[in-house]
Amino acid sequence: MSFCVKCGAEGPTYRSLCESCFLQGKVFTTLPDHVDVFQCGHCEDYLLDGKWLSIETREEVAEKATELALQISKDAEPLHVTLHGERIDEANYHVGMTIAMSVEGLDVNEARTTIVRFKNTSCPRCNKLMGNYYEGTLQIRTRDRKMPEDLREEIIERVDKMMQEHTRDNRELFISKVNRLTTTHGGVDVVLSSSAVGKNIAHELADQYAAEVKETAKLVTQKQGKDLYRVTFLVRLPAYRFGDIVRHDGKLHLVGALRANSTKITNLKTSQSLMVSNSDMTSAKVVGRREDILDAVVVAETDREVQVMHPASFKVFDLRKPPKFQRKGDTVKVFQLDEEFYLLPLQG
Ligand SMILES: [Zn+2]
Ligand SMILES: [Zn+2]
Repeated sequence: MSFCVKCGAEGPTYRSLCESCFLQGKVFTTLPDHVDVFQCGHCEDYLLDGKWLSIETREEVAEKATELALQISKDAEPLHVTLHGERIDEANYHVGMTIAMSVEGLDVNEARTTIVRFKNTSCPRCNKLMGNYYEGTLQIRTRDRKMPEDLREEIIERVDKMMQEHTRDNRELFISKVNRLTTTHGGVDVVLSSSAVGKNIAHELADQYAAEVKETAKLVTQKQGKDLYRVTFLVRLPAYRFGDIVRHDGKLHLVGALRANSTKITNLKTSQSLMVSNSDMTSAKVVGRREDILDAVVVAETDREVQVMHPASFKVFDLRKPPKFQRKGDTVKVFQLDEEFYLLPLQG
């Protein structure tokens, strides 16, 4: 049988003391009288544990802030916490808390209260937004021609989506401005809060559109001993798009898949496909758009030729089949340049 070294009571002991002598005068939790919580007056996010968060109600914020402010002795193992926040006025909330713990195998319960005070501030992201802060500009253009509006909108949408991915890990990222250009060449400027993200997006676009990226950095200021560079990424898309007809090396080709460094093209006469580096494609001239390609009804077909009807003039004429030609359906894709007609080798 063990007994308490302090009062002599017999029974189980905790560090040589009975339960009541062991727990006497001991406190395992502390909570400050006041807990301050900052809320951004612009985006209304709250700063909790070093992070800016969007939280529905102030009761919930007050409870979370109280839980974060609680300190528990390392001898105690917390088992269960209950919180109850109540509004006193708009800026002050009363929070009651109970903490169930295990100390040396004993169940211990404590209750604490505090006042959470809400303070107004401006978060770093809103500071940057309002100061029109920017580090990177994407200048998106098309080589040798005006950027079509549908392409421009498609690109803006892609940039938007990529930004959403990036902001998931870093809320201080944002698009500062989108300028749709009305100049002869058109295109768009997208101004971003981060040049690192600008670089990343510029190269993603290069990948998707076989574009070329040119980077120019300019030191604008030194901020807290750190250099601030503004970087411009000129993303130049080729004049051609997927499905266009181009003249390359004097011969007509259908444009296929576009990659960061190369473009796949297929010769209209020989059906031969090849990968051409984008730098070699800069001299390729667009002679027809995807939307210029006609769907002509097949009237008759032999081994070497198909007889088709022009969809507008209804004239019937024969076209020689390019190698590997395979028809799918009742119509074939035909491209007209000047007086000549070409049967597209790829009919997909
Ligand atoms: Zn005792
Ligand atoms: Zn804010």
